Amino acid sequence: MTPPLPARLALARAALLRHFGFPDFRPAQRRVVQSVLAGRDTLAVLPTGGGKSVCFQVPALVLDGLTVVVSPLLSLMQDQVEAGKRRGLAAAALNSAQDAESQRAVLDAVRQGTLKLLYVSPERLERLAGALGGQGVRVGLLAVDEAHCISEWGHDFRPSYRLLLAARIRLGRPPVVALTGSATPEVRQDIATSLRLGGARRWDLHLDSFDRPNLWFGVERVVTDRDRFRRLLEHLSPRRGTAIVYAPTRRTTEGLARSIHYAGFRCAAYHAGLDRERREEVLHRFLSGQLDVVTATSAFGMGIDKPDVRVVVHWMLPPTPESYYQEAGRAGRDGERSSCILLYAKGDAELHRRQLDVTFPAERVVELAWRDPARLASLPSNVRESVERLRKELDPEGGAPDWKRVRERRKRAANRISAMERYATTSRCRRSELLRYFGEHLRRCAGCDKHSSG
Ligand code: ADP
Ligand code: MG
Repeated sequence: MTPPLPARLALARAALLRHFGFPDFRPAQRRVVQSVLAGRDTLAVLPTGGGKSVCFQVPALVLDGLTVVVSPLLSLMQDQVEAGKRRGLAAAALNSAQDAESQRAVLDAVRQGTLKLLYVSPERLERLAGALGGQGVRVGLLAVDEAHCISEWGHDFRPSYRLLLAARIRLGRPPVVALTGSATPEVRQDIATSLRLGGARRWDLHLDSFDRPNLWFGVERVVTDRDRFRRLLEHLSPRRGTAIVYAPTRRTTEGLARSIHYAGFRCAAYHAGLDRERREEVLHRFLSGQLDVVTATSAFGMGIDKPDVRVVVHWMLPPTPESYYQEAGRAGRDGERSSCILLYAKGDAELHRRQLDVTFPAERVVELAWRDPARLASLPSNVRESVERLRKELDPEGGAPDWKRVRERRKRAANRISAMERYATTSRCRRSELLRYFGEHLRRCAGCDKHSSG
């Protein structure tokens, strides 16, 4: 029996205190949790660090049945399950990295009803949905984390997220809570449509402001790499606390780490090419304050929660406002003043535009390679990957391929590069420029290099 809404809310607050040790929800969290507990489909757009996990983990404890959580990355899933278990949540993950036996153990727990939270990849959910229904398992809530991945027009499209609506229907249409830390108005609409939020009924959208008043935004115009390095050093100071320097390639992070080390800082590089042990060591030293600077590719960050990062420097223009805001946003989680600095040289965007030709090779090149294995083999491996990816998507054997959507995706990716370029070169307020991209109108800037300070 489900208790009435006010009682459910009281239970939710008690669970928040007992399992998480937080005395209360943040305002945006409370609104989201209320909608979810009322049984309405909900889209929560809260900035990185806004506390999205609580928005489905706490309702999972209060609602009847199982909460299924869809998450795009295995590592993210694993982190959340580990953290959840430490908090005493009955959570487990189901994914292809597990052997058959542990998968069976998880499914047994689901059947016996001892599990409250089940994390799955979108691919896995398809199959799971049928199995659960057949065994009379009731899913009380479907949580879609990183929900922008469902949108073809977003910056991080995952085709497997497209399977979610079908899975939702097979699960018996449980209420959905979709969560994202970055969504333009268009992507928001796309999430709602793709998951069919609300069906014929109303659904709730909760938008938290993306503005982070304690962050100061600045761009340094540079010409040469020596300039970049000089400017970079000006922004590093061990007395001001820890820094993250984001760079586009593994090699750059390593070269920079050496130079920064010579300049007298405790510094290490972090990227996905390091072995696991090394990555854990760098992460541990970073979290425990034994490093002044980490130089990193975008692989560094997801799930990292160090409150006192004082400066985030981008060595070069990143390819999208979404990634820039997410990475820069790792500064100042504790609310103290922190800086986000972008080093920009005219021409930085060209590197990303050339990458577009790899992700979306010319249509003629792709079609020829589809037909001719020798031609395919002669392409560089990253282009070959794109050719195969497009073959799967466009299915040329089934008839003339329809390039329209692919063209549209490329156009959007190009627009995101241009939006970043505009941010770097604008003569107006940096913060307004960024927030406008996310559909937010800023009344007053709390500090950027165009608005001296707040
Ligand atoms: P997101 O997924 O939105 O980036 P997380 O769910 O990872 O954010 O939470 C970010 C941080 O906020 C975590 O350290 C979490 O413990 C903390 N947090 C979440 N909710 C609350 C709350 N109600 N009170 C205090 N801290 C909270
Ligand atoms: Mg999250």
